[in-house]
Amino acid sequence: MADIVFRNVTKHYGATLAVDDASFIVNENEFFCFFGPPLSGKSTILRLVLGLEQPDAGEILIGGKPVNSVSPAERNVAMVFQNLALFPHMSARDNVRFPLVERKVAEAEIERRLGDVAAKLHIGHILHKPPAQLSGGERQRVAIARALVRDPAAYLMDDPISALDARLREETRVELKRIQRELGKTLIYVTHDQEEAMSVADRMAILENGRIRQIGAPAEIYDRPASAYVARMLGSPMMNILPSVRGAGGIEAADGAIRIADDKAPAEAIEIGLRPEDIKVRPWTDNETAEGGTGRPARVFEVEPLGGYTVVTLAAGQARLRALLRGQPDIRPDAMVAISCEPARVHYFGQDGGAL
Ligand code: ADP
Ligand code: MG
Repeated sequence: MADIVFRNVTKHYGATLAVDDASFIVNENEFFCFFGPPLSGKSTILRLVLGLEQPDAGEILIGGKPVNSVSPAERNVAMVFQNLALFPHMSARDNVRFPLVERKVAEAEIERRLGDVAAKLHIGHILHKPPAQLSGGERQRVAIARALVRDPAAYLMDDPISALDARLREETRVELKRIQRELGKTLIYVTHDQEEAMSVADRMAILENGRIRQIGAPAEIYDRPASAYVARMLGSPMMNILPSVRGAGGIEAADGAIRIADDKAPAEAIEIGLRPEDIKVRPWTDNETAEGGTGRPARVFEVEPLGGYTVVTLAAGQARLRALLRGQPDIRPDAMVAISCEPARVHYFGQDGGAL
């Protein structure tokens, strides 16, 4: 069993509250992501798992066993280092062997484990090369092999690909996801990039100031964010969140420029959230004002054609909304358009920012 459990774990650094009453379960063989802005406590959580920091309160269990008083060396979790740093003067083989040589493991056992991990990670054919002769993906595999050669219960990565350029990041995260699927080992992964978190994680936890705000599968959190904070953290462009009031025609936002006829809308809502892809945009026709027309008038403020899709910023009353449209629709700045949104796709948030 390699599940990792936090029960009400709190950690301060002096007066700074780094991790605030965190409870979660990372299941065996899961790709679990911690996602949050800088200084939200992501690295501290990893350090607590590794045993490099002690919690002030709460309990940490690995494989069902409390580890609060277990030393890092005995916890059997391995960190794959941030920049995937490999020793440049050593071959891939010696890099992978290193943790075992350092622990004075018998030579025959080292070779057996090296063979094992090399087969799992498909790196047998590149073991003779130094890191400089490996591609980015190969270096990643070697770095993971070096962490896994100790046969840890879980391995951890702290924002491992943030230093790479955008194109390489996309390739690398696909590679990582693939490796994790093939290995079937517990991976705890930290990132501050929402797209990366969503693309790789089986499940993720979203952090704010040391507090876990929501845990779930990425698609689940995206579709049902528990709060306006979480809603804003996932999705690009970001969810449109507007102050709202209950008016004659249903829920109104942007001084009545946006109206949602939803009799089930919660009365306590003070904000509505509209995902950019849920906003439908049509050219304005006089039909819109006639009976049966459902669109609300808006003016096109700016258009960003991005190839496969187009981001349109709309002015509705005093509010600005962003809509994400497929392809390259013929929409020009300053044109009048009709906007609409399925009532079922509208998110409602209450006084404390919680979803209703
Ligand atoms: P993240 O990895 O999400 O950027 P961290 O876990 O590094 O966040 O930091 C969480 C909070 O704890 C921050 O306020 C940070 O300044 C503080 N912190 C982290 N490490 C230390 C440390 N060694 N000493 C003092 N404060 C720290
Ligand atoms: Mg960090």
